[in-house]
Amino acid sequence: MPGPHECSAGREAEEADTSRGSAVASARDRVSHVQRDRRKRTGSTSDRDLPHWSLACTPLEILDPASSAAGARVGLFDFDGTLSLIRAGWFDVMVPMMVETLLDLRTGESEAELTELVEGYVGHLTGRQTIYQMIEFTEQITKRGGTPKDPLEYKHIYLDLLMDKIRHRREDLRSGRVDPDELMVPGARRLLDAMLERGLRLYLASGTDQPYMQEEARLLRIDSYFAGGMHGALDDYKNFSKKILVERIIDESDYAGSEFLGFGDGFVEIEVVKTVGGSAVGVATDEPDCVSVDKVKRDRLAAVGADWIVPNFNAHNELMAALFGAS
Ligand SMILES: [Mg+2]
Repeated sequence: MPGPHECSAGREAEEADTSRGSAVASARDRVSHVQRDRRKRTGSTSDRDLPHWSLACTPLEILDPASSAAGARVGLFDFDGTLSLIRAGWFDVMVPMMVETLLDLRTGESEAELTELVEGYVGHLTGRQTIYQMIEFTEQITKRGGTPKDPLEYKHIYLDLLMDKIRHRREDLRSGRVDPDELMVPGARRLLDAMLERGLRLYLASGTDQPYMQEEARLLRIDSYFAGGMHGALDDYKNFSKKILVERIIDESDYAGSEFLGFGDGFVEIEVVKTVGGSAVGVATDEPDCVSVDKVKRDRLAAVGADWIVPNFNAHNELMAALFGAS
């Protein structure tokens, strides 16, 4: 299966904002350094090889055989890592950026120790808005005697670094050089079609900033599926969360929590849907290849109550049968 194109040079950074531009340039150098070291440690030769915890291919894991989505009327989809692969590799941009800064504080902790720490909280906060990972980062800096910048500033540095990595993917989609399905989790479009055929009202809910997420959904040509809207992170972050969205849908419609079916690769969306009594599919895909189950993601999603685990949506008929029975 063709994966997303590799990050090539792609260094035509839009550094019109020069104050942030130099911070980004320096952070970019640091990221390359940590990525090189990480590859040395793991024996990896490219970012395509990461993460390296993949299990054998399991098309569908049923965690609770009694679970059913037969009564579902609402489909709640996370975006990045669940449907879209445009931002695949974000983890390997965010983690080194943070590790390098913490290393500079010279606390005596090794790079491996700091990497483990950062990977832990970044992974745990996946699915929430990016700002929460940055807030935790600033707390880790403070804890080590450093003086952090504002979390929002770190978020913009990170987003600029990530844009270096993904700009070519967005341009390939915009120009038509790459088919949108190549930058989606395999089987995602067929799954969305099936949800509409069953009459579910679909909502997109993402921790990625709303303008980017909406633009990328349009580039993937999936925006028209979401009659319930495409909801993403705002700089005014306290006014949006997946929990707030789900509670608002329940308040403003006749949908019950038990009628929600969630799909996500972060524990947040799974936990939110399970808390209101819905059912949830954990998408534990080994981005960007999306062939095998990523064990770390799988365990995290299982721990918050995912009913089913998939590495992608290729086992369409099996997944439909597990979700909806023979109906
Ligand atoms: Mg996600």
